[in-house]
Amino acid sequence: MHLSKVKIGLEIHAQLNTNSKLFCGCKTKSATPNTATCEVCLGMPGSKPVLNKKALDFAVMLSLALNCKVAKASRFDRKTYFYPDLPKNYQITQYHSPIAEDGHVFVQSKKIKIRRIQLEEDPGSITYPQHIDISNYALVDYNRSGYPLCEIVTDPDFSSSKEVKQFLKLIVSIVKHLKVYTSDRSFRVDTNVSIGRNPRVEIKNVGSIKDVVSAIEYEVFRQKQEIENGQRIKQETRRFNGSATVSMRGKETEEEYGYIIDPDLPVIVISDAQLKKIVKAMPELPSQRMQRMMQQYKINKHQAIAIVSEKELADFYEKVAKDTDAQLAASWISTQLLKVLNYNNLFFSETDLDVQHFVPFLNLIRKSKISDRAADLLLRELVLKPQHPGTLADKLKLLTLTDAKLLELTVSVLKKHKKQTEQYKRGDSKIIAFLIGQVIKESKGRADAKKVKQEIVKYLA
Ligand SMILES: [Zn+2]
Repeated sequence: MHLSKVKIGLEIHAQLNTNSKLFCGCKTKSATPNTATCEVCLGMPGSKPVLNKKALDFAVMLSLALNCKVAKASRFDRKTYFYPDLPKNYQITQYHSPIAEDGHVFVQSKKIKIRRIQLEEDPGSITYPQHIDISNYALVDYNRSGYPLCEIVTDPDFSSSKEVKQFLKLIVSIVKHLKVYTSDRSFRVDTNVSIGRNPRVEIKNVGSIKDVVSAIEYEVFRQKQEIENGQRIKQETRRFNGSATVSMRGKETEEEYGYIIDPDLPVIVISDAQLKKIVKAMPELPSQRMQRMMQQYKINKHQAIAIVSEKELADFYEKVAKDTDAQLAASWISTQLLKVLNYNNLFFSETDLDVQHFVPFLNLIRKSKISDRAADLLLRELVLKPQHPGTLADKLKLLTLTDAKLLELTVSVLKKHKKQTEQYKRGDSKIIAFLIGQVIKESKGRADAKKVKQEIVKYLA
């Protein structure tokens, strides 16, 4: 049995945010099927591809952001396979000499190695009228054929789905900061999972971080069960159907694709001057933003890391920090807000929480109108249904009592519990705990114990 170590490697395909395709002038944003096509992206004989310069710049930026060595010269290859979404019967990609190699990023102080980054074109897309297993026909749309992609290949350095989730969040945050990204949808991941020395299984084409995490969790569970039952793990390609991974086919080896250098495309040469220009034009990266935020808002590293984990969250924080106490905001966002999001399996970008909700929320805390515990309850509601926090807190009876209300409540409790009040007056100081408890109970948890004690002592003095 090789139940030892789980090893996970990733291949991430990120669509690049260009206006036109990788090798032709066809637009990348067209809704009507098969309208954004030409002889190049339909693979007509004799057509000549020309590399999109912006896509190349994006690929170089991404390579630098992931600490890769950018190749001074790289080439395109043809990966041959037959499938209806691939009109040329080969995909233009980089196999022999990719644009960048040998990078790394840190995920919670663990080094994850980036093996290579390659520039390639997307195939077309296939839609089925019903579920793939029962459809009688398929529709092919070549609008996507030729979209620019960057494929990021990692070493099998991950040992859990949790690490993969952190890493993918970081990659998404980086590509969004670089603005090389179109949207969350333009992101697909192939995942390799193996246990000990058993063969690896590839899960193809998973389209969201949450699904990648679920697919890995299922696959690790499945492989462990197979091994425990004395079964051999087959080297194969599987797909994730939303709840389980299912077998697609035996895994091909890279050699089976018969890669050849594409004779239509020249060597990509990147000069030092060009590289310098790209470095200069690069937007602020999450790691740089983290450093800046620590200085600018006087927040600690742990908080800054948590906040930049999602670009939208970091944008949100900076807007909130402008309008209220920046440190209080960092403290609540990096702990309680992320806890609520995690608990609900949500990313910040999936909520409608806005500055207009969060600033007044923090102000309730700042002005002691709400206890920390009550604020925590309020935040849980706000994340799921953003609305005015003051109104909601009032409705849920979460606001701290005013001094007058507290006094009124204290007096009524003392009158109700005459025996214990007399006991206290005679010198039994321990009985005050009972009286405090009664006031808190009457206030439905909104009275602060310390304040109640002060009121009782003052009133009976
Ligand atoms: Zn075209």
